[in-house]
Amino acid sequence: MATKLLLTFAICRLIVTVGLTLEPTELLRLGLTVDPVDVESASVDFGLMTKVEPLAVLRPSSAKDVAQLVKAAYESSHGFTVSARGHGHSINGQAQTGTGVVVQMSGVGSGGKPRVWGGDMYVDVWGGELWIDVLKSCLEYGLAPKSWTDYLYLSVGGTLSNAGISGQAFHHGPQISNVHELDVVTGKGELMTCSKEQNPELFHAVLGGLGQFGIITRARISLEPAPQRVRWIRVLYSNFSAFTKDQEYLISLHGNQKFDYVEGFVIVDEGLINNWRSSFFSPRNPVKISSLGSNNNGGVLYCLEITKNYHESTAETIDQEIEALLKKLNFIPTSVFTTDLPYVDFLDRVHKAELKLRSKGMWEVPHPWLNLFVPKSKVADFDRGVFKGILGNKTSGPILIYPMNKNK
Ligand SMILES: Cc1cc2nc3c(=O)[nH]c(=O)nc-3n(C[C@H](O)[C@H](O)[C@H](O)COP(=O)(O)OP(=O)(O)OC[C@H]3O[C@@H](n4cnc5c(N)ncnc54)[C@H](O)[C@@H]3O)c2cc1C
Repeated sequence: MATKLLLTFAICRLIVTVGLTLEPTELLRLGLTVDPVDVESASVDFGLMTKVEPLAVLRPSSAKDVAQLVKAAYESSHGFTVSARGHGHSINGQAQTGTGVVVQMSGVGSGGKPRVWGGDMYVDVWGGELWIDVLKSCLEYGLAPKSWTDYLYLSVGGTLSNAGISGQAFHHGPQISNVHELDVVTGKGELMTCSKEQNPELFHAVLGGLGQFGIITRARISLEPAPQRVRWIRVLYSNFSAFTKDQEYLISLHGNQKFDYVEGFVIVDEGLINNWRSSFFSPRNPVKISSLGSNNNGGVLYCLEITKNYHESTAETIDQEIEALLKKLNFIPTSVFTTDLPYVDFLDRVHKAELKLRSKGMWEVPHPWLNLFVPKSKVADFDRGVFKGILGNKTSGPILIYPMNKNK
């Protein structure tokens, strides 16, 4: 299997060559555009840290368009690079290329609408579809995907090329663990269907493959009955060990007696607990960090974020279930913040913050973000060295902690 994966990788990389110019007839034949607006938009990403202009952009309306382009690149005597771009929310130019064509998978006219198969509990979606639109289509059938990212204006192909992690991953695994089947355009320009049973090497290479093993044109994603409402709770800790112990305890629970989402964040801002995602909690938490013991803790507090999904028909028992779960935790007793909202509003929560930041001109700014997996044995060192040692009281911006089970 290892040899085959390496071979596939070599095929993708073979496409890279320099000194390419695309003739107008070639542009037309492949359906490419060099419209400055398209080229400009494909040359930047959410990170705003690198800018690289492609030679041209393809806005495919089908998998056939993508296959035709990649085949042309593979067979071309000059060779040129092909880079898939979803919604361009990478941080450091991952979807850019200066020596070839960006395939703009998301956007008007590309692919088709999501197709929900209610009986089989899955949905077929175009690789460039945004998760918010996948959710809306599935909700029409009372269904929803199981595993999410915090933000839904990301493409299916973009998150499946990474992992797709949020507070549901401890239970369902990341998004890449909830895919039945993919259609992929390989480095040779062949359109192939793959799954755990059919072309499994390609399937496992593409999922989490950083766009290097092929272009996802269709994904078949597992569904569950959609909950109607969400009880969303935040509790605070000044002690890191108590915080991680409770996170670990919560992600070890099975069956119905558990939360549906477990996440957390670090609070290093001075003053009020009012980070970029707090706007759902009303009234705004009128709490001074110093009043909760952060002064004795390098100015740092930890927030555990948990939710319980429910249907209106079970609303009567939800309070007792949550109370029983909270009783087992060791947070600061006066620091419980609760809100209740429709499932879709919870999943789409970051968009509300986005609109607010956009209105202040604070969305389209550089984002030097970093994601790390830290093993359980090193989290205490990480807290001492990074959260308290480096960040302490002197930074702003989100610092999220997703507890994950290794076996997922
Ligand atoms: C505000 C915000 C919140 C986020 N929250 C989370 C989170 O909670 N959890 C999480 O896991 N991630 C999160 N991310 C990171 C995000 O999942 C990745 O950056 C993701 O790649 C973005 O998707 P995109 O469609 O914008 O991809 P792009 O930036 O367009 O592409 C990303 C990579 O995927 C490749 N690619 C894109 N489409 C395809 C395709 N169809 N086939 C093959 N390869 C393809 C590209 O070549 C590139 O390498 C967040 C990002 C932002 C900006």
